[in-house]
Order: sequence, then structure tokens, then C-alpha cells
Amino acid sequence: PSDSIPDFRAALLESKQILVVTGAGLSAASGIPTFRGDGGLWRNYDVTALATPGGWAENQSRVWQFYHYRRELVLKASPNPAHYVLAKLAIPDFRYKIAPHSKLTHVTQNIDGLLRKAVDETKVSSGVSEESSEIVEMHGRLFDIVCTAHDCEYHEAKFDSPICPALGGTEKILADGITEPLVRRADLPHCPLCGQLCRPGVVWFGERPYRIKEILDLADEADLCIVVGTSALVQPASKLSQRVKDHGGRVAVFNLEQSNHSEEADFLFLGPCEQRLGEVFGETFS
Ligand code: NAD
Repeated sequence: PSDSIPDFRAALLESKQILVVTGAGLSAASGIPTFRGDGGLWRNYDVTALATPGGWAENQSRVWQFYHYRRELVLKASPNPAHYVLAKLAIPDFRYKIAPHSKLTHVTQNIDGLLRKAVDETKVSSGVSEESSEIVEMHGRLFDIVCTAHDCEYHEAKFDSPICPALGGTEKILADGITEPLVRRADLPHCPLCGQLCRPGVVWFGERPYRIKEILDLADEADLCIVVGTSALVQPASKLSQRVKDHGGRVAVFNLEQSNHSEEADFLFLGPCEQRLGEVFGETFS
């Protein structure tokens, strides 16, 4: 793959449908641990116990404590320079400077909402009122809570922390590793409509991502796929860039290191995305 910025900019000039796929590496510089790699969340905790339907069935208290811990981390975090570059790509006024004929969609695996926040802030700070590109949050949102009863529609964003009094402080225990559950099921968040137990509004391993049909259609239409900060191990997100390649589109990868995507990439920009994205887009956007 090429690491030529002028060649990548030439590809952007020609592109009509851009798909940007992002993962946990995008938020690493905001202090949010990735799933894998140095400091990755799963180094300390067992993924099958914390982010799978089976883990939930076994111990809802432990899963809620983990998501409370992640909510606490994200509440303290802010978007980093990589989010702001991608936010500008989402705003036509900025994007048309480098890709004048393009439409763009963001598909993110991140549940932290930081990309959305960066777009909102950028629109306010630059006085832009026009519509920005959609951000499809395929793995849900960390601050949403959802009722587990099949016949109940309750699904709401809740930014309170702790989300229920019993969870307050449990992140300190998680920081030292999992211990026995501390919170009684009755004290976990319950649905205000039907009284059943609520779960985090996120997609767990083995569950179907939100809006997957739409996302696959986008990959079939895109002529350029920009992949940022994902290990390309989690399906189906990992297949999106291959789908773009399959019909002749091009793929640009931004990652700290070589990943599964590196081989299929036409462009590969190795290093921290909060720097590399700035180098590639910065001058035009500043
Ligand atoms: P992952 O942890 O598997 O991979 C992270 C990737 O980012 C790695 O390839 C790593 O080399 C790269 N990376 C790390 N720091 C980087 C940086 N500064 N610049 C560029 N690249 C960097 O994450 P993933 O591929 O997104 O895994 C998918 C799952 O992780 C998803 O289900 C997602 O919901 C979940 N996740 C989300 C968050 C979040 O919302 N911020 C955090 C952790 C995990």
C-alpha cells in the first residue's frame, strides 16, 4: 500500500461515496482503552463474562458494573484531534474542499458518542447550520438503557452517573479486577414502564449490529472506504472495507500498526490517528 498523501488526496478528489469506518483506536487518545493491544480493556477482564448475552445471563450485576465503569471513563473524556478531523469530513462545507463531489457516511463501532460530540461542537464553533453526514453507531450507545422485556419498547439515553445509586463507586473495584458481585439484582436499573430489568443499549458479541442491512448497502455503493483505529477482528465491521474493494473501490487505513486491513489497503497511514489524520487533512481544514 501507498503512504503518499498527494495520491490519497487525488483519490479523495475523485470520490463520490465515502464510507468511514471507525473503531476503538479513534478514542484511544481521549483516554478510553481499546479492546485489544496495550492497555486494552480485555487484558484485565474476560470478554465472555462482560460483553456477551451469556455473560449477562450469568451475572447482570457484574455486567452493569463494567458498563458503569465505562460510562465513568467516557464522562471524563473529550473528543481528540482525530475526532475533530473526522467531524469536519462529515460537514459538507469542509469536506467539499478536498472531495468536492462526495457524499459521506460514518459507521462507528464505538459506543462512546465522542464522534457525534465532535461534529456538534464543530458545527457550533464554525457557525455551520447545514446538515452533516449521518453517524451510524452500529454497536449502540453507552449511555442508552433498554428494557429486557420482549414486549416493552423502553429505550432511553441516560447520562446520570451512577445510573442507579447501588452502582456508585463500583468502578474502583473493577479497576483492580473483577470481584464477586456487589449489587443485588433488585438494585440494578429497572424499566420505568414495565418494571423489568434494563440492560445497556449496546451490541454484545454474538448479537446483531444496528442497521446492518443499510451499512452493507453503503459498502456496496462506496468508492472509497477510510478505516480508522480498528483491529478488523470483529465481524461484520471487519468485512466492510473488503466489500468496498470487491466492487473496485479503494481502501485507506489509519492504524497505529499493521492490522488485518493492511494487506487489502491501497493507502496505509501508520501511527497514531490523532496525528496522521491531521497530517493528511489538517492544512485544508484549519
Ligand atoms: P480493538 O480494540 O479491537 O482495536 C483497536 C485498534 O485501534 C487496533 O488495531 C490498534 O492498533 C488501533 N489503535 C490503537 N490506538 C490507536 C491510535 N491512537 N491511532 C490509530 N489506531 C490505534 O477495537 P475495535 O476494532 O473497535 O473492536 C471492536 C469492538 O470494540 C467494538 O465492538 C467496539 O464497540 C468496541 N470498543 C469500543 C470502544 C469505544 O467506544 N471507544 C472502546 C473499546 C472497545
